[in-house]
Parts: sequence; C-alpha cells; structure tokens
Amino acid sequence: MGTIITIANNKGGVGKTTLTCNLAHALTLKGGRALVVDTDSQCNSTSLLTGNGITFQNSLYDILTSRDLVAQKAIVESKIKKVDILPNISDTAVLEYDLSQNLPDNYSILRSKLRDYSKKTYQYILIDTPPNLGFFSLSSLFAADFCIVPISAGSAYSIEGLLRVLTVIEKIQEDGNPDLRFLRLLVNNIDRRTAMGRLIVSELEDNFRGKMFETHIPRSTVFEQAEYTKATVFGSHSATYGAKAYRELAAELRLILESPE
Ligand code: ADP
Ligand code: MG
Repeated sequence: MGTIITIANNKGGVGKTTLTCNLAHALTLKGGRALVVDTDSQCNSTSLLTGNGITFQNSLYDILTSRDLVAQKAIVESKIKKVDILPNISDTAVLEYDLSQNLPDNYSILRSKLRDYSKKTYQYILIDTPPNLGFFSLSSLFAADFCIVPISAGSAYSIEGLLRVLTVIEKIQEDGNPDLRFLRLLVNNIDRRTAMGRLIVSELEDNFRGKMFETHIPRSTVFEQAEYTKATVFGSHSATYGAKAYRELAAELRLILESPE
C-alpha cells in the first residue's frame, strides 16, 4: 500500500513545490511509482510536471465538485517516467468559498477520492499545498498519512509557518484523521558555509531533535534553472549537489517509512 505525504508550510516560497516534484522524481529512480496531487491553484507543480499550455480533460476542480467522478478520471502521466499527476487549474481558486460552506464534510472529499485507488496504484502520493492553511491545505492534511514541512533557511517566517502547521496537525488528529503524523521538517535553501546557516541548523536541532531530516537541501541556482525549463533537477542537472541532496533525501525517507516511529 502506498503512503500519502502532504507537503505543507504556512508560508510561500519555502520550497514546497520544488520539494514535491523533485522528491517524487527522486523516489521513483529506485523503482516504484509516484503520484503528485497539486492542490495549489497557482498550479506550479502541474506546470512543472506537464509543461506549459496543456489542457486537461478533468482536474482537481472536477474531482472535488462531481461526487461520482473518481480520481483516475483526472490523473495523467507527467513528463517524468513513473510520476503521474492529479493536475490543478486556476479556476479551483473560486471553489474555496463554496467548499468551505459545508464543513466538516467537504474536508474529507479529497481523502475519500484518493485513499483507495491511489494507495493501491502508487507507492508514494505527494500532495503539494498552497501557502495558506485554508480549505485545500486542510483537506490535504485530512487525506494524509504523514506531513513533511520544508523550511527555508533564509526565512525566519518559515519557522513560524512550521509551528502553525504543527498546531493544525494536532487539531486534525483530534477532528477526523487520527492517523496523521508529522514526519519531519526539511531544511531547505541552506548555505552551511555561512555562520548564519550553521546557526539556523543548530537552533533547529536543539528544538526539533529527531524530527528533522538529516539530509539538508543546499541553496543552489540549479533549482531555479530547472524550474525555468519546467524540469526537475534530474534532467540536465543530475550531476549537481542539488540533485545529490535529493537522492539522499529519497533514500532517508525510504528508510524512515520502513520503520516509522
Ligand atoms: P513554494 O512552493 O513553497 O512557494 P517553491 O518550491 O516554488 O516554493 O520555491 C520558491 C523558489 O525558490 C523557486 O523559484 C525555487 O526554484 C526556489 N528554490 C527552491 N528550493 C531552493 C534551493 N534549495 N535553493 C535555491 N532556490 C530554491
Ligand atoms: Mg508552491
């Protein structure tokens, strides 16, 4: 059975989308299939994984609004072998108000649409979320087994965003998804050559010992370069430190999932 992992932080620009797409690709390099679910109406994962200007027969919008439409009616192959995507379209943004009216039932639509099919078909299901803790992020946490929170070492606000996600996870555990676990925080965008970078890591280690990935993702322009060509770092940048870090992260995650505490 596959594992559903939601990538969340109540802060934009910390690397949620970069992590979702690159980790999905890295995980499949050693076998297995991955599904990326894009719940952010900015559609960045969708565009990175499928390219520009693609129209979809169905999208997350249709899955959430049509009770009888199953997830596989919207899932398509991405540009990456063994990675599929449940795409988003910008129209989904207008759904937030409507779906927020019939709570709490609506929070579990995504969960019920994803659980059976995707868990049987994919080893890893990674859900990319918006920067706010609104309907789509909450639905993604209701659907998940685990949550990974990336923080950007360049932004103290991303640690505040992490703390808010942890509070919300506790509420969701009480309110409908007792199985949800905060898996790890991921230090992204770190420059360990600087005193500031080392200070941030040591302070996080004091506060989150055992709850941080040992692998850190370095600050590197390869992520922007890859994003510019709508690719992960495993295309023309696969020999870089950035790609190496993601391979290590995938290996560490696999080990953790083999024996989650
Ligand atoms: P979010 O989804 O949280 O808003 P993104 O994944 O879109 O964040 O990342 C924001 C920007 O930071 C993007 O331009 C991305 O290419 C860049 N980025 C992500 N990770 C790194 C990194 N480790 N080093 C440098 N730039 C990064
Ligand atoms: Mg994003």
